[in-house]
Amino acid sequence: MANIIKNRVYVSEQAVNQRIKNFDEVSLGYNKEEAVREAKRCLQCRNSPCTENCPVHVDVKGFIKLLAEEKFKKAYLKVKEDSPIPAIAGRVCPQENQCEGACLLGKKYDAVNIGKLEAFLADWAMENGVNEEFNIKEKKQKVAVIGTGPAGISCAVDLRKNGYKVTMFEALHKAGGVLQYGIPNFRLPKNIVDKELSYLEKIGIEIRLNTVIGQSIPFDELRNTYDAVFVGTGAGAPIFLDIEGEKLNRFCSANEFLLRTNLMKAYNPKYDTPVILGKRVGVIGAGNVAMDAARCALRFGAEVHILYRRTKEYSPARMEELHHALEEGVNFKELVSPTRIVGENGWVKGVELVKMKLGESDKSGRPRPKKIEGTEFIMDLDTVIVALGTRPNRLFLSKTPELKTHKWGGIIVDNGLMTNIEGTAAGGDAVSGGATVIEALGEGRQAAKILHNYLLSKKLTTPG
Ligand code: FAD
Repeated sequence: MANIIKNRVYVSEQAVNQRIKNFDEVSLGYNKEEAVREAKRCLQCRNSPCTENCPVHVDVKGFIKLLAEEKFKKAYLKVKEDSPIPAIAGRVCPQENQCEGACLLGKKYDAVNIGKLEAFLADWAMENGVNEEFNIKEKKQKVAVIGTGPAGISCAVDLRKNGYKVTMFEALHKAGGVLQYGIPNFRLPKNIVDKELSYLEKIGIEIRLNTVIGQSIPFDELRNTYDAVFVGTGAGAPIFLDIEGEKLNRFCSANEFLLRTNLMKAYNPKYDTPVILGKRVGVIGAGNVAMDAARCALRFGAEVHILYRRTKEYSPARMEELHHALEEGVNFKELVSPTRIVGENGWVKGVELVKMKLGESDKSGRPRPKKIEGTEFIMDLDTVIVALGTRPNRLFLSKTPELKTHKWGGIIVDNGLMTNIEGTAAGGDAVSGGATVIEALGEGRQAAKILHNYLLSKKLTTPG
């Protein structure tokens, strides 16, 4: 067996006291020498559990071997075979539950830092102007992709590589979905998103921004103009608590706060998007969205408290996000649940919380939190941000009643991701509810395959 190097090569980061005052990327990433050293830790084991555990099946062992041999271009192209947006996925995937979670080395020592190696290669390729080259054999058939988040992106790319004319439609003024409007710059710099997505137009995908399907263009019109459709409209509708006080000023959803901060660039002093938080901010929830909201509020100068009904070890956030949030000084109030938002003259003044205890495990394997009756107390706050998850975006669905959905709003699909409407597939958060970037990418790829087969069969059966 090769020499085992137990510990990861350290990834430099901005110092804590410096980074809480800016929105620049926290991780400084690997340089060439560090990346090669980390790549050499890979055991190149016979099976590839890392690849099996990746929803888009990146050939992890393959690209890491090339990287260890300093064949950067080949290593990058190997990643690109399966992952259309490696600079993004390398930065935001929950690797600890996927490729790195399955890494054999990680069973005893530190898993290989696959995410940071992927991001290193993608950044290196951008800096050196390296692009994939392929010959697209043009087909006549046209496909419409609704939504430009990860699900739409991977579906569009695979269909385009197969020669279809692909047009993507996006409601917002920027492409990228959550990558653009949700995940903050300090985790996913927007110049990286813009550069990585510029590849879509380079390979001939048309992107129409500011176009809400169901409103600007009716779905029927789209169905009649295109040979097939992919619906990747995401899950951007926030879930509220349905308690007293949710109409008060300075109570908002994390989605609204993050959209203002990221897409509307409140974090950049050159823009005049208002964000008024006051001194003390409470964030309800403890997932990635809650961590993002908390860390943004902190950077706007607030004292921030995460309010969570379990304890932090059960937080569904990525390990790195939780670690960074705590390191940066986000306070974590465990075992509490809000019962009402307290207001004065129309503005938030605090939140009433009840203490919780942990009971037996629920379906997720985490202990179920239970109220301790009579333990209500009030915490003074200037702003309350709710980050309890999201549901599929409703506008498109409400204008397309013929599309079958579950009661909670998710689009119903068969095993191949086809909906009940002929020639229409769906994937990503619009189908599953809030999930992950890599799962959305995986479903986009799967849908591209099924639509390709559908279009082939249609071509064979269409007379003339
Ligand atoms: P989206 O990314 O939501 O994209 C859907 C797009 O469709 C949007 O751009 C929307 O504007 C557009 N759209 C909607 N309706 C219409 C219409 N009618 N016409 C035209 N366009 C329309 N996952 C991770 O793996 N790691 C993380 O660290 C992580 N952090 C997150 C942080 C936040 C704040 C949030 C909100 C989510 C996070 N996630 C993370 C989850 C992940 O981003 C999503 O699972 C993923 O983006 C889903 O991709 P999607 O393509 O299905 O939808």
